[in-house]
Amino acid sequence: MKIKSIVIGCAFLLFAACGNNKDLHKATPVPKNVILLISDGTGLTQISSAFYFKEGTPNYQRFKHIGLIKTSSSREKVTDSAASGTAFASGVKTYNGAIGVADDSTSVETIVEIASRKNISTGVVATSSITHATPASFFAHALRRSYAEEIALDLAESEVDFFAGGGIHYFNKRKDERNLLDELKDKQFLLDTTALGDFASIQDQDKVGYLLAPDALSPIAEGRGDFLPDATALGIQFLNKDETGFFMMAEGSQIDWGGHDNDADYLVSELIDFDEAIGKALDFAEKDGNTLVIVTSDHETGGFTLGSQTKTRANGTTYSDYSEIGMKFSTGGHSATLIPVFAYGPGAEKFAGIYENTEIFHKILQLTNWDKE
Ligand code: MG
Ligand code: ZN
Repeated sequence: MKIKSIVIGCAFLLFAACGNNKDLHKATPVPKNVILLISDGTGLTQISSAFYFKEGTPNYQRFKHIGLIKTSSSREKVTDSAASGTAFASGVKTYNGAIGVADDSTSVETIVEIASRKNISTGVVATSSITHATPASFFAHALRRSYAEEIALDLAESEVDFFAGGGIHYFNKRKDERNLLDELKDKQFLLDTTALGDFASIQDQDKVGYLLAPDALSPIAEGRGDFLPDATALGIQFLNKDETGFFMMAEGSQIDWGGHDNDADYLVSELIDFDEAIGKALDFAEKDGNTLVIVTSDHETGGFTLGSQTKTRANGTTYSDYSEIGMKFSTGGHSATLIPVFAYGPGAEKFAGIYENTEIFHKILQLTNWDKE
């Protein structure tokens, strides 16, 4: 009796000690999957526009953990998408135009390459050509972002398991006369150049690629439809099927192009479409419980503002009508404003604060341990 109660007492003390210990060193949960959503050319004003012009509450509002990144590249105050994409994908500051290479032009390993080594499934989705700067940064290495045919070759030789976007011509109308579409099929890719399939049509495949336009996909206003939210959802489902864990990057590429064109309708329609893709990622992550979702942008484009509407009185003088929003731009290029980061899921609180864009990469690897043996 006595011995038994001592044993129980000791066991209780041990348990209490362990419990205490656990409280003191609360382990950060390790996410199994990571979804990185990039809205090219999107600052806080672009995001704000969804709150004024999207019907219903934007999916952005579902996030509780928000931070800000500094985006300057290694040589320029104002970054481009290549340098910023490389910062996200490889954690290094490089020069504008560089894809997967450091400032000294040496190749840097991308998160897709790092994850693939651990047999983690990887996917890339974009509404531009899949060879365009942002997606390219995740699987390619090129001294210049304009080397689209080199970048297409890098994709064909990469370990990417799922891709969807445009850019057929960089695969089959090449100066070197190689047909990379055939080469991808030889590598057991299911390739479709007509439309996204449903999950049932691809679930038995190892690798799947969709190239749905000669170059970029059409803008949302010209009939692209639900490609981005659908490809995001399909990619997630496909990459999750083998339970190995996955990394997926999906980009709303054309918000940037609306900014360059100083075309507010183009910009806002693309941003609202991107918000739908956020919804798909969060729906999955909420159910799954082991998925980290990060939403951010490479830089702002257009110096976009939500001012008041300028109106003209009968006598010809003008005034600001504060009851209506007047969307204006201050540049046809990019700007250097800090960029919001939204995070959901295990480790999301680590994305609060103000830090360099390269930290997105380092935070993901620290949380997932994908860089550890
Ligand atoms: Mg881009
Ligand atoms: Zn741009």
